[in-house]
Amino acid sequence: MSKYAVDERGYYGKFGGAFIPEMLYPNVEELKNNYLEIIGDPDFQEEFRALLKDYVGRPTPLYFAKRLSEKYGAKIYLKREDLCHTGAHKVNNTIGQILLAKRLGKKKIIAETGAGQHGVATATVCALAGLECKVYMGAVDMERQKPNVERMRILGAEVIPAESGSRTLKDATNEAMRHWINNPQDTHYIIGSVVGPHPYPDMVTRFQAVISEEVKKQLKEAEGRENPDYVVACVGGGSNAAGIYYHYLDNPDVKIIAAEAAGKGVESGETAATTFKGTPGVLHGSMTLLMQTTDGQVVEPYSISAGLDYPGIGPLHAHLFETGRAKFIAVDDENSMKAGIELSRLEGIIPAVESAHAFSALNQLDLNENDVVVINLSGRGDKDLQTYINWGKY
Ligand SMILES: *Cc1c(COP(=O)(O)O)cnc(C)c1O
Repeated sequence: MSKYAVDERGYYGKFGGAFIPEMLYPNVEELKNNYLEIIGDPDFQEEFRALLKDYVGRPTPLYFAKRLSEKYGAKIYLKREDLCHTGAHKVNNTIGQILLAKRLGKKKIIAETGAGQHGVATATVCALAGLECKVYMGAVDMERQKPNVERMRILGAEVIPAESGSRTLKDATNEAMRHWINNPQDTHYIIGSVVGPHPYPDMVTRFQAVISEEVKKQLKEAEGRENPDYVVACVGGGSNAAGIYYHYLDNPDVKIIAAEAAGKGVESGETAATTFKGTPGVLHGSMTLLMQTTDGQVVEPYSISAGLDYPGIGPLHAHLFETGRAKFIAVDDENSMKAGIELSRLEGIIPAVESAHAFSALNQLDLNENDVVVINLSGRGDKDLQTYINWGKY
């Protein structure tokens, strides 16, 4: 068995598990006892694959970026998750979870969202499946991310403001959890990354693993080999990264690179670079690395990119860091914006600011001209136009 797969207790090495209030136990237990069987069922796979193909638009292309390759002196391929319906990889997971929820007999869906991207991906699949959708979102975030709030409403979701605490993502998560505790029979909670109590990190990884499954086939066609020398992704919670790493984890020839958001700098006090500043602790139901004070209070993260602005990483990634299997690189706001503009100018692709962090990692790799590099272009930059405008240097 893989050293990097979850064990039967829900752990990756010393990270993972399910640290949940007793009241949540039955819900998580129901999921844990059923998810593998449901996902493994051929009918489920058939329906999942059909929607990925005809609704999401998969397989997404693996594009050889010629001008970017010339610039960095290596063969660079982009996995085009930006071409997925709704504009990013997140929908791969929400499609999987909505089909699972239906098979568990659930009638209603809840989710939490920070910037609104996962909320939109969830509202989308709820409309698709005809299930009721409530999305918890911090009141402060609702103000900052109005277009996504309206997108969710157009799709028929109810957006519920979280008015407690700092009125941001963690408060929205708390309120979603509370709702789930009170509605265990008919409700499924769709988590948006490889975080949360077991089995969520493993379940979400399995849904996103379609990314590297496709890369293997596509690279074989393009280069005559399945394995690149490097696979690169940005890590917020870590779902797009888990997806593109998954089929390479046990292949030590493939170097795994994770780009974290340094914000204004790793030592600035305004950062989201978890492996640089984090320590082991429990966040959102699992043992992982997170940024916290010495007495265990979660430190507010900061990044220019809303999708990477998270105080922890999923337990799989904490394990990849601890074992040295993945190399973590910190990319600050300024360098991510430069990389975003560079990709726009060299390839005609404006990336999401999250994905731009992965591209900036190219500057920190020691590349040879025969190296094959696959970068996960996790999302498109349309949603970030205002961020590019505010930065202004283009
Ligand atoms: C949400 C998001 C991310 C970060 O989430 P992960 O779970 O780390 O993948 C990265 N890129 C884009 C485009 C996103 O929308």
